[in-house]
Amino acid sequence: MSRKPIIAGNWKMNLLQEEGKELFNGIKTFAKNFSESQLPTIVVAPTFLSIPAVASCKHNCGCGCEKVAIAAQNCHWKSSGAYTGEVSVEMVKDAGCEYVIIGHSERRQYFSETDEMINLKAKAILAGGLIPIICCGETLEQREAGITDEHISSQIKAALDGISSEDVAKSVIAYEPIWAIGTGKTCDADEANRVIGMIRNVVKEVSGSEAAASIRILYGGSVKPSTIEEQMSKSDIDGALVGGASLAAESFNEIISNTMKVSV
Ligand code: PEP
Repeated sequence: MSRKPIIAGNWKMNLLQEEGKELFNGIKTFAKNFSESQLPTIVVAPTFLSIPAVASCKHNCGCGCEKVAIAAQNCHWKSSGAYTGEVSVEMVKDAGCEYVIIGHSERRQYFSETDEMINLKAKAILAGGLIPIICCGETLEQREAGITDEHISSQIKAALDGISSEDVAKSVIAYEPIWAIGTGKTCDADEANRVIGMIRNVVKEVSGSEAAASIRILYGGSVKPSTIEEQMSKSDIDGALVGGASLAAESFNEIISNTMKVSV
């Protein structure tokens, strides 16, 4: 089965509204030159406050905006109520999002997000008609202790618990070794492909072979224009979740065009 690649940019806590709009403009202007079938699925994840600024152009005006989907970087699993500082699935959908990133290692580390919360979020996102991008990954200590596969397999099993095979098939997983995020050290492409193949086997075990064949599994961790071709040439890597290199249109667009050379 051929899976359409995804190149997703995680802007994290960067860029004011005008800066976000400018970056979005640079990406959509590039994307406009290509047909949907030539392009990977392109996703950008601005801050909550910049989502409306970026989404204000999303009305099929033909400027390329329809070729760039928007993700939220987080959401709450409850639909409304007394959860100060939180944003629901319906709210991010209303603002123009189609995807939500969940379980990023920074949220797990700095905001104590647990596997259980990630599972609740994944269920709420799918119930709301959006697509979760579920992040997983090991620390350097876990890698050195030889427990990478065990750790990631338990993160994935917990995240997908109780989700139907049909919903799992639509979801996206991002394998992001924590030691490779923002460090400039990329995971060796063969090793990233091995771990992603292992994740696909876990999906097969819990959700069946159709879901395993359909789910898109990305690599994240210091992806750059110079690394993406080798990463995309591997059998199980379906795209990239990009942090630092997604903050400039030039490098993000180069990642997209290098992806198109190998695998769209
Ligand atoms: C990320 O935060 O998801 C990420 C992969 O960041 P970077 O590309 O900067 O390593």
